[in-house]
Amino acid sequence: MLILTCPYCGQEADETTLHAGGEAHITRYGPGSSDQEFEDYIFARQNPKGVHFERWQHAYGCGKWFHAARCTTTLEVFGTYSAQTLEPPKEVTDLLDEKRPGWSWGTLK
Ligand SMILES: [Zn+2]
Repeated sequence: MLILTCPYCGQEADETTLHAGGEAHITRYGPGSSDQEFEDYIFARQNPKGVHFERWQHAYGCGKWFHAARCTTTLEVFGTYSAQTLEPPKEVTDLLDEKRPGWSWGTLK
């Protein structure tokens, strides 16, 4: 079972009390963007086997949205953090560097 720690209220929440919100750090395109950019924003998502950045809502807790970095195959969680960030915090990327050598943020954007 997936267990994530809410970065806002600090509660450990299992997946039955969370709501999945899909991939995190999606670049939003608006007026002036190309059709391809807008199509990618709406439909294109990564589906990695391994490290993935996701949006979650602590639905049956404080109700706030946050981001989580986890492995999709092992459910290992590398960290949770505010949804108000454009990139994962350094402590999360440092842990990924340690536990998943060769991992690169640039390849996941
Ligand atoms: Zn919470």
